Amino acid sequence: MFERKDVEKLEKFSFTDSYVVSLFLNVSPQERKKQAYLSKFKSLVKALSEEKYTRCKEDFDKIESFLQTERESFKRSLVIYSSSKNNLWLRYDLNVDLKDELIVDKTPYTTPLFDLLDNYQKYGVLLVDKRTARVFLVFLGDIEEYGMLHHEDVPGKHKKGGWFALAEKRYERHIDYHVKIHLKDVLDKFGDFLKDKDIRRLIIAGPDEAISELMDIIPAEIEQKIVARTYIEKYASKEEVLEKVLPIIEEYEKSKESKTVSELITRSLKNDNAVLGVDDVLKYLRDKRVMKLVVAKDYKVDGFVCANCGFATTQPVECCMECGHCVIKIDNLFEKATQMAVEQAALIEVVKDETDRARLIQYGGIGAFLRF
Ligand SMILES: [Zn+2]
Repeated sequence: MFERKDVEKLEKFSFTDSYVVSLFLNVSPQERKKQAYLSKFKSLVKALSEEKYTRCKEDFDKIESFLQTERESFKRSLVIYSSSKNNLWLRYDLNVDLKDELIVDKTPYTTPLFDLLDNYQKYGVLLVDKRTARVFLVFLGDIEEYGMLHHEDVPGKHKKGGWFALAEKRYERHIDYHVKIHLKDVLDKFGDFLKDKDIRRLIIAGPDEAISELMDIIPAEIEQKIVARTYIEKYASKEEVLEKVLPIIEEYEKSKESKTVSELITRSLKNDNAVLGVDDVLKYLRDKRVMKLVVAKDYKVDGFVCANCGFATTQPVECCMECGHCVIKIDNLFEKATQMAVEQAALIEVVKDETDRARLIQYGGIGAFLRF
């Protein structure tokens, strides 16, 4: 699993006198039959220039032997960065499909990884009961566990009667006290984890009683991130946890996309702080008024961009409407809009569901919720 800071670090590598090989390869079980992925890799290498091939031969040999020997550990796709001369070897196994690409350049090719970071959401999973808590991160169809909390000092609840009946009430209060301390500690640590990993969506799992006590003391900033509650056995393996949460995530994302598209269309038709279509979106991006950009996945609209001030439009103009400088034709204005949104730290939502995507495309394939 990789994070934005890893990719940002990678992006800073730049070699003046040597190359780095960036490989993105689909290695799904289907591709592994008859080693189809290996032939694909070889033909990607063959398509390179003689110069690049010769200078990176050591890397290609290394990658090829890696592809032959490590296939048992592959997931759906594989990302490799290799530069033997600079002691660089980096490998990511992903559970999503990527386009096959082999790029040889002075800098690592990171665009596909940034795209994944922009298009997929991270989910935190908190598996909690009255004594323990486990924390997971789910991203790109993959799961990682981030430690376990266990509070030994929560006394067990024993069945008592007779002489002890009177003492029972005090004893129960004592248990409550310890459970509260435990849950409070869990929430403190979990809150830090969410901030550190920049996680905005949560799934809470555990027995009803523990969860309802947790909900009594949960801070609002954590509570508003919860998208679902479920039950998962406390000693479940991380694979079992993943199997349980993936359908929940899928369902949630689908319903969220559908709601977003509906709200965007309704509000934009009422002129209620929302707009549709790339020209309006670009205009409000220039005014820095976009709160959230909504884009149909893999949809393109071409247009013109000013080489001087960055003004962009679908209108066939020869000169910039803002500064009069020359414009250049580009084939994807959405990329420009997304880039501007990233620079302004606006939220970006990519609509993937087929029905919702088609609805959005009817209105230009792009829209935005505005700040004020
Ligand atoms: Zn201009």
